Amino acid sequence: MTPLSETEVRRSFVNCSRGEAKTLTLPRDFDELDWSRQVVLGWRDPKAPLRGYLVAQVDDETVGIAVRAAESSMSGRTAAMCLLCQTAQPGDAVSLFTARRTGNAGRNGNTVGTYVCADLRCSTRVRTEIPPWLLDRDPAEVVAERSLELRERVRGFLDSVRRP
Ligand SMILES: [Zn+2]
Repeated sequence: MTPLSETEVRRSFVNCSRGEAKTLTLPRDFDELDWSRQVVLGWRDPKAPLRGYLVAQVDDETVGIAVRAAESSMSGRTAAMCLLCQTAQPGDAVSLFTARRTGNAGRNGNTVGTYVCADLRCSTRVRTEIPPWLLDRDPAEVVAERSLELRERVRGFLDSVRRP
């Protein structure tokens, strides 16, 4: 991602009110973020436990969406997979997140949901959690490929939130 200012991040939100976007809490490490390593900037709201945010750049446009984690979590003894970064993890490290859709659909209470890493830090995981069957390949190539796939899946999710 190209570096964003706090104002740019707050202005990017498409599925919450301006007031919500203005008051949401930015990631604690916002000032030290390595933007070149973010495919999607995802974080949980440090002050509102079930809230989270995803900000991505799609076709030169910055799009932010507010998501809400399900109150119940899966068991840590079962395996689950994040559908954005496709990392397999214990069930309690993956959460169902719902996003209010934009426009009329959203006003009518319409949401879309998907399973994502509970901490929403998929950008980190595509670099650090390499599936075992990819370990014999060139690490830089694998990270590039996983980042590209993450970008495409994030775009798909953002599209489903914004679909008219
Ligand atoms: Zn993930």
